[in-house]
Amino acid sequence: MKKTRKTNEEWREKLDPNTYHITREAGTEAAFTGKYWSEHSKGVYKCSNCGLELFSSDTKFNSGSGWPSFTEAVNRKHVDLREDKSHGISQVEVLCRRCDAHLGHVFDDGPKPTCKRFCINSASLNLEKYEKNK
Ligand code: FE
Repeated sequence: MKKTRKTNEEWREKLDPNTYHITREAGTEAAFTGKYWSEHSKGVYKCSNCGLELFSSDTKFNSGSGWPSFTEAVNRKHVDLREDKSHGISQVEVLCRRCDAHLGHVFDDGPKPTCKRFCINSASLNLEKYEKNK
């Protein structure tokens, strides 16, 4: 996949301050504050930075965490998984494969069959709703 590369200044111009902080500085939005944790519309969630398709509403589930949660990515080639020890424990960070936006983390306590819980910041996503739900 061809990478989308911008300088920090370019990202800062393109993104609102909250989105910049979460996606380019690996921030975390407060639980139950993002725009998608309780979103139930059908559609595809795209990267808020570069537009790459990342998650489908078909794999979204109510984790009770206050962040949008998915059992799988639309395509594993669209995300990068990276070990993250910055919070004092070992976690797996999820990033957009194309633009390296920080998306969130993935945990092994999701529902079957994947048992994965992709815990993603709303600010990292833009939901493109399917036509019939608009
Ligand atoms: Fe991206």
